[in-house]
Amino acid sequence: MIIVMSTRATEKDISSVMEMLEERGYGHHISRGVERTLIGAIGTPDGEKQSMAEKLMTIPGVERVVPILRPYKLVSREHQEETSVVYIGDAAFGRGKVGVIAGPCTVETEEQTLEAARAVKQAGAVCLRGGAFKPRTSPYDFQGLGEDALKILATAREETGLPVLTEARDVRHVDLVAEYADAMQIGARNMQNYDLLHSAGQSGIPVLLKRGLSATVEEWLKAAEYVAASGNLNIILCERGIRTFETITRFTLDLSSMVAAKQEPHLPIIVDPSHSTGHHSLVRPMTMAAVAAGADGVMIEVHPHPDRALCDNVQQLTPRNFQRLMERLQKLANALDVDLQAVPGKE
Ligand code: PEP
Ligand code: MN
Repeated sequence: MIIVMSTRATEKDISSVMEMLEERGYGHHISRGVERTLIGAIGTPDGEKQSMAEKLMTIPGVERVVPILRPYKLVSREHQEETSVVYIGDAAFGRGKVGVIAGPCTVETEEQTLEAARAVKQAGAVCLRGGAFKPRTSPYDFQGLGEDALKILATAREETGLPVLTEARDVRHVDLVAEYADAMQIGARNMQNYDLLHSAGQSGIPVLLKRGLSATVEEWLKAAEYVAASGNLNIILCERGIRTFETITRFTLDLSSMVAAKQEPHLPIIVDPSHSTGHHSLVRPMTMAAVAAGADGVMIEVHPHPDRALCDNVQQLTPRNFQRLMERLQKLANALDVDLQAVPGKE
């Protein structure tokens, strides 16, 4: 349920609503707009909604109580009509701000990560990515350097000024990732790991939630609702390709669902053209397609020497190819009148 306060509601009225919800054991989430405040009630059982709505209507300052019909509430546009702008450090995503996140698939060495970080910063990326805890399909593949990688990412942030994003693969990684990183990724294979979603929501840092390999948009949005219901609405969704019968690409980049999904939640949505296509030659065209279709950002794998990369070497771009991509993307952004926030070459 969403409780819509009138434009004349006082702080006392707002507190009375929250107290009534708390007394009955329900959670709440408050959004203070310029004109009015909305309070989302969390956890009201369907059978109690009608009587609860009637009680809430007796509190001064309550204008309306709107039942939410969608299975996701806090992330829906019924809760907040306008698209959210989510920040990772100073990098903005949403409402005309398009952010490029770039960096290696995984942190291998300090030298490799710093080289990648300098190159992506130079080309205009606004956030550095790099895996510390890698979700690998085979147990024999490189699993990531763990905390040592987080330290290397922090060094790269210090040198370049880029905020860093890295994945927490398990509940046990959440505190550590929150200590070092500016945003936490939940990977595709973990989209329905509800304990992890809950912990990530409580971490206090923005969460980038990838779509599961075979998740519908509705399942993806419900996963985002878990993060939101744990107290964190700083969520960026990331379409990273789904499993289909097609094998010519690594996954199938589902851009039409990305566009359709944008109409439902108020959260920004970005696209990962690297993991979805699996091939460096497809990354630039699909980046262009994603931004032209309205994505609020992209996440691209860049490695100083893709031929020597410990994982995903076929899809990682060289710094030179990333630079070319950014030049093209800037032209597209100008034509679309969206803000890439990138001043290429700016240190
Ligand atoms: C990644 O971004 O490093 C990654 C492993 O992606 P995904 O979870 O989408 O496979
Ligand atoms: Mn990768």
